[in-house]
Amino acid sequence: MLTDLKTVLNVAKKKNCAIPAFNVYNQETVLGALQAAEEANSCVILQMYSRLFTSIEAEFLAPSLIAAAQRSKVKVCFHLDHGASDEAVYRALRWGCTGIMRDASSLPIEENIAITKHVAEVCHDLGVHVEGELGHIGMAKEGVSTEYTKVDEAVRFVKETGVDALAILVGTAHGHYKQAPVLAIDRIAEINKAVDAALVLHGGSGVPDDQIVAAVKAGIRKINFGTDVCCALLDGIFAEKHEAAAIDVFMKRPTASVKAFCLSKIDLLGAEGTNE
Ligand SMILES: [Zn+2]
Repeated sequence: MLTDLKTVLNVAKKKNCAIPAFNVYNQETVLGALQAAEEANSCVILQMYSRLFTSIEAEFLAPSLIAAAQRSKVKVCFHLDHGASDEAVYRALRWGCTGIMRDASSLPIEENIAITKHVAEVCHDLGVHVEGELGHIGMAKEGVSTEYTKVDEAVRFVKETGVDALAILVGTAHGHYKQAPVLAIDRIAEINKAVDAALVLHGGSGVPDDQIVAAVKAGIRKINFGTDVCCALLDGIFAEKHEAAAIDVFMKRPTASVKAFCLSKIDLLGAEGTNE
């Protein structure tokens, strides 16, 4: 069933696990991720970037994602990932998102707080919960920043914005890592102790399994996977024979590849069986 961000994050808190947030781009990635969640009886977050909400894809993808979520036996949150502007937030709400991220992390903290607070107020009025970001999580190709999110700033940010979830910079980045990242597990634990908001780890693709497990143990409750969802789909496409013509048949293997990837992460995050 379609549910809200807070419901799945509360499940993660109660179970001391993390709920995977898979970035979806088309019908096959939606189906692969949903099939995995259903097989594992896991809560799941399906999220889309701002740019997808500004393109014609949203007109097709958002309604079909919502229809699939509504008929699913597991709890599914439909989330905006990295909302780049207030307009992006409004578009995502118009397309039915049940969770919103507003990312103003590249701005000074005062501006980040003001922008995120405004979005949190608007969304809370609508019964939609909000993720903010403090400590800008950049691109892996530019190197991983060690300017980790500070505990006192996280406390201030959560208190002043009222966010329900907080993405923190603790050693990850987006895209392909040049070398395996080393996470600041102690910092995760310190921030988790100091704030009520559910902590979010971005850039989950390529993080070694043992570090993911340690991050969840330290208090991470949502982990984003984007790059590896794409890789799983593309690996499935390149493994398919060229003579296959009917596109629905052709796409079965790539969809299964996405499903297998998602199942492995659901298992790693301890999210299996969380859909009670
Ligand atoms: Zn991200």
